[in-house]
Amino acid sequence: MEGFEVVVGIETHVQILTRSKMFCGCGADFAGAEPNTLVCPVCLGLPGALPTPNAAAIAAAVTTGLALGGEIRPRTWFERKNYHYPDLAKGYQISQYEAPLCTGGGLEVVGADGVRRTVGLERLHLEEDTAKLIHAPSETLLDFNRSGVPLMEIVSQPDMRSGDEARAYLEALRQLLRWLGVSTGNMEDGALRADVNISVRRVGETRLGTKIEIKNLNSFAAAKGAIEHEAERLAGMAERGETIVQSTRGWDERTRTTFAQRTKEAADDYRYFPEPDLPPLVLDAGWIEARRAALPALPAARRADLTERWQLSDDEARVLTRDRATADYAVAALVAAGPGASRAVAGWISGPLFALANAEPALGEGWTSKVPPNALAELAALVADGTLTRSVARDVLSEMWSTGRRAAEIAAGGARTQISGSDALGAVVDEVLAAHPKPVADWLGGKESASAFLLGQVMRATGGQANAAVARDVLDKALARRRA
Ligand SMILES: [Zn+2]
Repeated sequence: MEGFEVVVGIETHVQILTRSKMFCGCGADFAGAEPNTLVCPVCLGLPGALPTPNAAAIAAAVTTGLALGGEIRPRTWFERKNYHYPDLAKGYQISQYEAPLCTGGGLEVVGADGVRRTVGLERLHLEEDTAKLIHAPSETLLDFNRSGVPLMEIVSQPDMRSGDEARAYLEALRQLLRWLGVSTGNMEDGALRADVNISVRRVGETRLGTKIEIKNLNSFAAAKGAIEHEAERLAGMAERGETIVQSTRGWDERTRTTFAQRTKEAADDYRYFPEPDLPPLVLDAGWIEARRAALPALPAARRADLTERWQLSDDEARVLTRDRATADYAVAALVAAGPGASRAVAGWISGPLFALANAEPALGEGWTSKVPPNALAELAALVADGTLTRSVARDVLSEMWSTGRRAAEIAAGGARTQISGSDALGAVVDEVLAAHPKPVADWLGGKESASAFLLGQVMRATGGQANAAVARDVLDKALARRRA
């Protein structure tokens, strides 16, 4: 890649989370359904069947466009994209071409170099999904359950310059889709599919090189890997003076290489024309503004709130805004704990609490109700005032998680409170010194480090519940008395 720059744009197909399909009343939740059970004359493409647009899908697409900072077109229409393929019974897909629902906007990503930059967006439009082809050894089967499921196609500008940046873009997009509740964003289920446009040019060149499209990348790692491999291949061809022909390629996960599929159709080949069975889509300006007003605070704004109001680092803010439920939880816990405790509270959430949540992935966002935010704030306060050591508090948190009890109650009931009384520790220290005459003699002989061993024995004897500072003080005094 020496002397070359890679230029990447991404088209994503996003399955919109609706109950019914884009143009008929069939159920859209096809995952796990018996093949060809969610079908009707409309989504089977039978002659004479008429489409009716899904209002919830249009609303979700408008919400997404607004959240991305795009401009919503108040008057638009659907078009037929004509092509013949077995998964498209009608012989065309209802899509949008000339007048997409939304244009412009952008998505902020943090690149691998830690620098924030905005990837511009070209358009967002609505369309319907195709049926699914299932290739069996001797035949190909068709499942129409997916046919007609609502999709948003989101097309970026060619603003990315590496596989890592492309990956960061896809991650940020998925986070936003989930944040808005408009899609599951699950790449493994095909609810978020990426087609990557890639070209290379010599550093300093401003004209774009011939682009290659790599279709249907179904994981972040595949997108990054395919871009890195293809960039090397194209740079090698350019270096050798070979001609790059615009074409579509696939990604082979097993060999981690791209392979030729077909030369690219031009838009003309699709013979787009306005869908005659649907009237133009006219959106009321007041309705659009109501959707804008109803947008939740978005990840970037929530990160800024955590760094500015709560004095957390960029990294802490990023971790605590990984999804909307976590962000809401974190702010509730920070408010309950009050100023001054924000770092500690952030640490309890991103460390021990995430570990407990990760161990039970089936809970999903439900983990936030296992330990209420104010209960976590109480636990942090008990550590801050010295009632509990950190290690004991971790155990207390596990118990809070599994029983729903509060920290103070568990601490009081289970003899878990930190032992910080010097009388209680004095007795333990005397026992430890009596049991280990050799280290005591070493210390008296001038070997300072022997006291660390003795302190460790004190901590062990108390099951880690001794206040370490008090224990050290009591130990030092006891040893000093022996010297005297
Ligand atoms: Zn249907």
